[in-house]
Amino acid sequence: MAIVVYRYGHRIARDKRITTHVALVARAFSADGILIDTKDEKIEENIKKVNEKFGGNFFIKSGIPWKEYFKKWNGKIVHLTMYGERIDKVIDEIRKSKDLLIVVGAEKVPKEFYELADYNVSIGNQPHSEVAALAIFLHFLLQGKWLEKDFNGVVKIIPCKKGKKIKYNCLKILEKEGCSKAVIEHCMKVKKLALEIARRLEKNGIKIDMEAIEMGALLHDVGRSKTHGIMHIIEGIKIARKYGLPEKVVGIIKRHAGAGIDEDEAVKLGLPRDDYTPRTIEEMVVAHADNLVGYKYRMLEDAIREFKRKAGKKAVLKLKELHKKLSNLAGIDIDKIVEEIK
Ligand code: SAM
Repeated sequence: MAIVVYRYGHRIARDKRITTHVALVARAFSADGILIDTKDEKIEENIKKVNEKFGGNFFIKSGIPWKEYFKKWNGKIVHLTMYGERIDKVIDEIRKSKDLLIVVGAEKVPKEFYELADYNVSIGNQPHSEVAALAIFLHFLLQGKWLEKDFNGVVKIIPCKKGKKIKYNCLKILEKEGCSKAVIEHCMKVKKLALEIARRLEKNGIKIDMEAIEMGALLHDVGRSKTHGIMHIIEGIKIARKYGLPEKVVGIIKRHAGAGIDEDEAVKLGLPRDDYTPRTIEEMVVAHADNLVGYKYRMLEDAIREFKRKAGKKAVLKLKELHKKLSNLAGIDIDKIVEEIK
């Protein structure tokens, strides 16, 4: 059954919030899409942003005049109004319909709606809100099954008793942003090495955020979907912010290049003036894992050779220092870890 919501009487300035909420409810409670009578690009954009982050194929179109659309509609029309029949009396019959257009108003709806509708349905005979009416109608219609819908989004909320638990599908972000196969394979390799280094650090008593390592390693090069130049760092930060990724991950993306880029080097390279030197243990681990992955895993010596050629003496020095620091903290030469997972 296709379920489409029609929002009548939207006034851009006054109904901005409530129409957005009608659309959000329609989406969350498993409708296929929403049509709005008045053209409103801002609402379309906002709902598309929600889709981008939280998934699903919910559609939104505004500027759709009701008369023509209602006439063309092939399925049944349900108009939600406090003057209608009680929902519990008609819902079983409505559920048998092939496709449904659910109409909700803003202020007053034209008299014709009551005639054109196959069902005028009330959610209790008191005046309340289109948002509540729509939610309860969809809940009755779908008998609670909307709760099972998997939106397969980049961002997934994990139910928990207290606090907030959010899971991010990083591979999906890489794909959605259009990273090449080679970049994705490189990121997977960096993830594997970074996690292994992190495990050794943890074993040696260092506190480390494994989730940040995994996400940061997978996404450190997401900006390469836009450019392979140094500005991929800035592009990566923008993408991370778009998805609302944790600041820890943004930090890893920002400070992953080489063994760090200080403010003077940044300016020379054309980056915005800032210090891009890894600070946290997670930033250091991902940056160095990246140093030890070219197309394949490589030893420090190979990385040094490349740095000498491409980045100069200062970068080589910093690379050696970072390798030494992490090896000391892990209690094992990082080269040995590379050797093991090669
Ligand atoms: N007098 C209007 C009516 O119910 O037709 C109230 C306007 S109300 C602010 C905006 C929309 O909310 C209505 O067009 C209707 O779709 C929905 N609505 C409000 N109360 C409702 C109820 N008790 N049952 C069903 N829908 C309701």
